[in-house]
Amino acid sequence: MTLPDRTPRSVALAAGAVVSLVTFAIILVIFLAIGAPVKWGWFLLYLPFGFFIAYRIIYIFIERFLYRKVKIIYKTIHSFQTKTETTPRIIMGTDILGEINEKVEEWAEEKIREVKQLKATENFRKDFIGNLAHELKTPIFNIQGYIDTLLDSDLSDAELHKKFLEKAAANCDRLSDLIKDLDQITLFESGRMPLSIGKFDLIELAKKTVESVEQQAKDKRITILIRHPLDKPIQVLADRNRIEQVLINLLINSINYGREGGETRIRFYDMEDNMLIEVVDNGIGMTKEHLPRVFERFYRVDKSRSRNAGGSGLGLAICKHIIEAHQQTITVRSTEDVGSTFAFTLKKAQTKSMQ
Ligand code: ADP
Repeated sequence: MTLPDRTPRSVALAAGAVVSLVTFAIILVIFLAIGAPVKWGWFLLYLPFGFFIAYRIIYIFIERFLYRKVKIIYKTIHSFQTKTETTPRIIMGTDILGEINEKVEEWAEEKIREVKQLKATENFRKDFIGNLAHELKTPIFNIQGYIDTLLDSDLSDAELHKKFLEKAAANCDRLSDLIKDLDQITLFESGRMPLSIGKFDLIELAKKTVESVEQQAKDKRITILIRHPLDKPIQVLADRNRIEQVLINLLINSINYGREGGETRIRFYDMEDNMLIEVVDNGIGMTKEHLPRVFERFYRVDKSRSRNAGGSGLGLAICKHIIEAHQQTITVRSTEDVGSTFAFTLKKAQTKSMQ
């Protein structure tokens, strides 16, 4: 027998009908077997009564049964929130089992998502600790090596001592930069790095950052140009110190991964509400597969080369944090052996507030 729908009420109705018909038939057979007179009026009256009583008993039984079972399922699903989540009322005219099935599926999907997230976090944590140990290892071993050499060396050789102490000091600087960068990332990720938003001239800031990396650029004979067609101030609303940090990171990278005698350009594009700032170099570039990952902490395209360049591997991760904290975006385009373009946006200051 197929039921019109799968509600508990329709099951009770069908079961009630079957039970009343079967008991009707049994009583009729007993009466006929013992030769008792069959009063058809009473017998026919029995059918609706029998049906109603059987239906009600089965209905109550199903309702209680479902309530007990549903309660257990809901308690399991919401095992951590039994106080806030109440067991729903059983509406016998609805497909309660279908609804429970849906809820269980939703719950299972959510649990699968949570497990995946936990696994990703666990992998991330493992990678992070591994990377960190690796980053710390190089300078610490270097310092250890220089000190051991100094201890074993001829104490009268002042020149040698100075050379080794300078090398040890450079590695100490590297360690301290790494710790400072890590500290910053932690502050950003925990939301404890408040921005101090104000209005400032981007062109003036760009000029200042170019001056601050002038020596590194000179050492590699790289020319840094600021391209701004209108040559008038560009007022933006942002945290000036943080944006300076972003520009310096991008410029230093354009030098570290640039070619001897190459060129880096800073370009500005007006995009209605925002300004787009690009730092373009004609350096070593990188292949497409690295682009989605360069903003990850400690990600390096050419591990040994970048490490030798002295970076912490955290520069772009910090840039991304800073720009995203401004609710803006940072992107990269690059072609191997041609060069890279890092672009980020900043909110323009309102014209009427411009001086
Ligand atoms: P690092 O301290 O290694 O420079 P970053 O986070 O600044 O760390 O950069 C991550 C990686 O992205 C670098 O190791 C390098 O491989 C690549 N990269 C960054 N900037 C450039 C660039 N301008 N040209 C080519 N590769 C770059």
